[in-house]
Amino acid sequence: MATIFPAVVFLLLGIVWGALLNWFAGSVNEEGGLLLKAPACPKCGAKRKGKHLLPLLGFFIARGRCAQCNEPVSARTPIVEFVSGALFAALYLRYGITWELLILLVYASLLIVLFITDYEHFILPNVVTYPGMALAAAVALLVTLLHYRLAWSIFFAGQDFMAIFNNYFLCATAGGVAAALLLFLVVVISRGGMGMGDVKLAGLLGLMTGFPLVFVALFIGILAGGIVAAALLISGRKKRKEMLPFGPFLCIGGLVALLWGRQILAWYLGLI
Ligand SMILES: [Zn+2]
Repeated sequence: MATIFPAVVFLLLGIVWGALLNWFAGSVNEEGGLLLKAPACPKCGAKRKGKHLLPLLGFFIARGRCAQCNEPVSARTPIVEFVSGALFAALYLRYGITWELLILLVYASLLIVLFITDYEHFILPNVVTYPGMALAAAVALLVTLLHYRLAWSIFFAGQDFMAIFNNYFLCATAGGVAAALLLFLVVVISRGGMGMGDVKLAGLLGLMTGFPLVFVALFIGILAGGIVAAALLISGRKKRKEMLPFGPFLCIGGLVALLWGRQILAWYLGLI
């Protein structure tokens, strides 16, 4: 059973892991290439050293500035570390020590990295999405072969047509293809609002969450994106023509679906 002490351990682990995710995502350049190097100041190039590298605390010890040139450090660093910790704790509280937890810690890490690179550079790098898709497909195949029922997946009662989706591999591939096709249509219609990166991310989310949960993920992503875009327009912080990356909202939608998708779907089906 999930309890508080291990949840705190997962919180701390997630904070430390978040520092690594920050570093990894920061190594993706604007063309989507990956160049791993030691964390350094983007202005003067001074390497971050010692206590300033500490997860979460380092930012505050350095007072949010480069020790060499006083350039402000992006608040992204502590925010990502904290969110990663909170997500690790939430996943533990939701699933306990299970295979689901192990799988979702990896999925959450991939989605955090994609969130950051799309937010900062409008890029969802293939170096993350392709291995992610291969991994999610392999997980789906493995649980199907082992007859393991993933706790977040939906099973259909009876012998009717929908029961074919009780095969999780089929459910994951159908979810991936459906989500990617849907986003591809949006890309074609919207002409520039979204890109092929969003199509690949939707495919990845489909493989991770499966049919029909992927639609919960897409719906939450579109809803969250719409609310934020409307708020930015109304408050005058963004103009209509300015780009807002959609990937971060898809990542949020995917994480919400993996945590509470079943409950959301049950609630929604109860309404109609
Ligand atoms: Zn500096």
